[in-house]
Amino acid sequence: MLSAEIIAIGSELLTPFKTDTNSLWLTEKLNEIGIEVKLKTVVGDDEARLEETVRDAIKRSDIVITTGGLGPTEDDITRKITAKALDKDLIFKQKLLDDLRERFKSFGYEMPEKNRSQAYIIDGSEVLPNPRGSAVGMLSDLSEKYLVVLPGPPRELKPMFEKYVLPKLKESAGDIVVLRRSLRVSGMGESSLDELIAPIYTKYKNPQTATLFNKTEIEIQLTAQGNTKEEAESLLDELANKIADKLGMAVFAKKGEKMEEVIGRILIEKNKTLSVAESCTGGLIGERLTEVSGSSKYFIEGSVTYHNDAKIRNLSVPKDVIENHGAVSGEVAEAMALGMRKKAETDYAISVTGIAGPTGGTEEKPVGTVFIGYSDEEETKSIKLNLPGDRYLIRWRSSQAALDYLRRNILKKEDD
Ligand code: AMP
Ligand code: MG
Repeated sequence: MLSAEIIAIGSELLTPFKTDTNSLWLTEKLNEIGIEVKLKTVVGDDEARLEETVRDAIKRSDIVITTGGLGPTEDDITRKITAKALDKDLIFKQKLLDDLRERFKSFGYEMPEKNRSQAYIIDGSEVLPNPRGSAVGMLSDLSEKYLVVLPGPPRELKPMFEKYVLPKLKESAGDIVVLRRSLRVSGMGESSLDELIAPIYTKYKNPQTATLFNKTEIEIQLTAQGNTKEEAESLLDELANKIADKLGMAVFAKKGEKMEEVIGRILIEKNKTLSVAESCTGGLIGERLTEVSGSSKYFIEGSVTYHNDAKIRNLSVPKDVIENHGAVSGEVAEAMALGMRKKAETDYAISVTGIAGPTGGTEEKPVGTVFIGYSDEEETKSIKLNLPGDRYLIRWRSSQAALDYLRRNILKKEDD
């Protein structure tokens, strides 16, 4: 398998204000054709450091891709330094200069002399045209290795890479396809999950398995290599199914879908509708549900009832239930879900009430105490959670838990 290395060039990428996104996109494209990215570097506009980085990269990697620093200004040093690192000269190309002048003319400008530097290329390299900008790219074939020099702006880099670089690399990479798939799991800790599935996935070298913990869920990422797409897919299917069988209901997505997408799919399949009453999540569940295109088919209404009065007025939560049990209680969560379902005339309703903190916790109900309510035609019930994290995480985890509670209840009905 060929190894690639990406060098993102530009001092702005070393500030807190700008991220190197080119390498993410490039990595996806390289992985698709079976090339693994082994190293990424971000280098400022610093001649010595860049030269050293490029020299080292060429020694250790089959494919080296640089992005950025091809502009006409003094800080754009990539052209000069990549040539130097290869011990090659920069060669002037009259045709490139003519094209540049023409390009400026077509916009009604005279070409500034500064842009003349963009008519120089690394000796022996192939010019990669750039219809979207003044900086051409370069591809140097270094017998068995490639150095690819691409412009920084993503809208210029992407079409250039796809059109002129990818086909060449694909040919060198041969018939290897690398595919990834994610299973998403909720309501389970990382170590108890690993205890269950490690005996399964450690038997496989291909696909490889990695488990990642996100803010609300565990993602099991499988990466398979095959000679064809079908072969890689079937390797993924085999292991994904074994893991999913072991984990049962805890797996909410087998192909990387988000929870709100899974809920949407289930509701559409069953032709059912949903409404949501939110207190401590402040509309987050509604926001997530409506992120999914087509959600108006099943998501009818959401209500953010933050104050007690709003719970009483909008959801007909009985005042004495709040007085007797407190706004953060299973009884109120149930009354919210029931009231919401009746008001919106939906098949299902869920609700959330809890203490997101950092203030408002008590000994009896500390920060992170959250009740999730559920109501359908047959029953109304609730669960209590003790969620860890700060305000942001508690709200996020509450939204996830509520959607997951809905999912599990709907699917359980199916099994009965
Ligand atoms: P340059 O080619 O260095 O003149 O950069 C041109 C533009 O592309 C600037 O707006 C950069 O911030 C942007 N850019 C350069 N490198 C990257 C990168 N690795 N990811 C995203 N944007 C970039
Ligand atoms: Mg730059």
